Formats: sequence, structure tokens, C-alpha cells
Amino acid sequence: MSFFNNLKKNLNTAANYTVQKTGEVTEAAKIRLDIRTQNVRLSKCFENIGRTYYKNMKENGEAVSEELDAYILEADGIKAEIAVLRGELAKAQGCVICPACGAQISNKSIYCPLCGVKLEEESQPEEESEAVKETAEEAPASTETEE
Ligand SMILES: [Zn+2]
Repeated sequence: MSFFNNLKKNLNTAANYTVQKTGEVTEAAKIRLDIRTQNVRLSKCFENIGRTYYKNMKENGEAVSEELDAYILEADGIKAEIAVLRGELAKAQGCVICPACGAQISNKSIYCPLCGVKLEEESQPEEESEAVKETAEEAPASTETEE
């Protein structure tokens, strides 16, 4: 009897865990879909760059044109959007993106396991800049006293 009771209890716990996990998975899946959509846009944009380059060379004997510049700007914009989405995806999975090598690593890491760079906590930079400001304010005062 107690075996079945325990089994039932375990199943309930597993069910709760699954529900909790689904929320996270859905968020990550949504972002992953957004990244895929942006990647399709980027491929299309690269295709346009190639076609425009070819057309410009054929028609004018040179590649540069406003049309080509516009596509290159568009590609840069899409790449920036993808970078933001990658950051959001990492966050949804309890990870961060290493600012040095771009690897996705646990947000509990102090050092990047891939490139070894020291990782800053998200709340740290603000406190740090505050501390730097205080030191900077104190420094000139002490210099004045010395002079
Ligand atoms: Zn790294």
C-alpha cells in the first residue's frame, strides 16, 4: 500500500515539476523561434547583398551603391537583434553570454569556463561606478590639500 502511495506522491511531484518547467521551456522556445525568424531575414538580406553586388558590377562595373549600403545596414540591424535575443534566451535558461567569447554559460559562474574571463554580476557595474565616483570625488580634494 505504502508503495503505491509513495508512487502516487512521486508522480504528483513530477507533474508539478513539469508544469513549472513548461513555463521556462515555452519562454525559451518562443525566443528560439524569434531567433530562427531573424536568421531567415538575415539570410534573405545576405542574398539581396549578393544579388545587388552582382547587378552593380554587371551594370556599372563597381559594387558600391546606396541600395547595397541599405542592405548592409539592414544586415547589421538584424545581427544586433539576434544578439539581443541570444542574451534573452540565455537569461530564460538561467545562463549568461560571456562578453569576451560569446559562450552561453551558467549565471552562477564567476569565470567563463571556455575563455577564463572574469564575469561580472548584473547588479555589480552600478555599485562599482558609484564607488568609482566616490573615489574620484575624494581624490582631487586630497590632491588640493597636498599642494
Ligand atoms: Zn568566455
